[in-house]
Amino acid sequence: MTSQNEMVTIFVMGEAFKVPVGSTIMTALEYAGFQLTTGVGCREGFCGACGTVYREKGDYRIRGGLACQTVVSDGMYLAQVPFMPAEKPSYDIEELTPDVEAIKKVYPEVFRCVACNTCTKICPQDIQVMDYIQSMMRGDIAKAADISFDCIRCGLCAMRCPAEIVQYDAASMVRRLYGRYLAKPTPHLDSRVKEIEEGRFDKDLDDLQTISSEDLKKRYYAREIKTK
Ligand code: SF4
Ligand code: SF4
Repeated sequence: MTSQNEMVTIFVMGEAFKVPVGSTIMTALEYAGFQLTTGVGCREGFCGACGTVYREKGDYRIRGGLACQTVVSDGMYLAQVPFMPAEKPSYDIEELTPDVEAIKKVYPEVFRCVACNTCTKICPQDIQVMDYIQSMMRGDIAKAADISFDCIRCGLCAMRCPAEIVQYDAASMVRRLYGRYLAKPTPHLDSRVKEIEEGRFDKDLDDLQTISSEDLKKRYYAREIKTK
């Protein structure tokens, strides 16, 4: 049981709530009685659904983080960002080349980057966001794809960008370009796809769709786990 002196006060959209010390923003919101139906996903820091902006007591800065990972502090003001509205251009990957021309054509706003580094500072994944944008400006698709690999598309970088660049969408395109044109051939993947197409796993898949949940759980926990 949590005692009163183990509580902190947070403000959600201006309304005060007492919540346990050490709570994440997400658990604090639920403790305060909010039923989260949007802005919540995996709860483990992987899906990027729970971007939140907040201001801490006595600090003039607006900060951002994932609600499932960020711990509350006394006097914190917060607001959730259910999603980041963004204009998403469509493109045909077969009509692009893995170089700066693709960036110019699909995401010309990337060249508005003023190198302020605000995006890197807010990224909850500690990704060097500005560096991948700068790599795109140089046409270095492989480097931009590599640096942005851990992006979870939370949208916080785009929200703070003074040049109004949607970094994570541009990063998705460069990773697709990398996969389509620059990644080394993967013969093992080709042979596995061929096996699937030839129906090698059809019986196993049919089997899995018909067994009971209990049997499915038993098989899951008894599966062979490769450690190397
Ligand atoms: S790069 Fe942007 S969208 Fe991706 S995880 Fe970082 S802040 Fe979120
Ligand atoms: S916030 Fe925008 S302008 Fe600033 S470094 Fe990042 S991409 Fe460039």
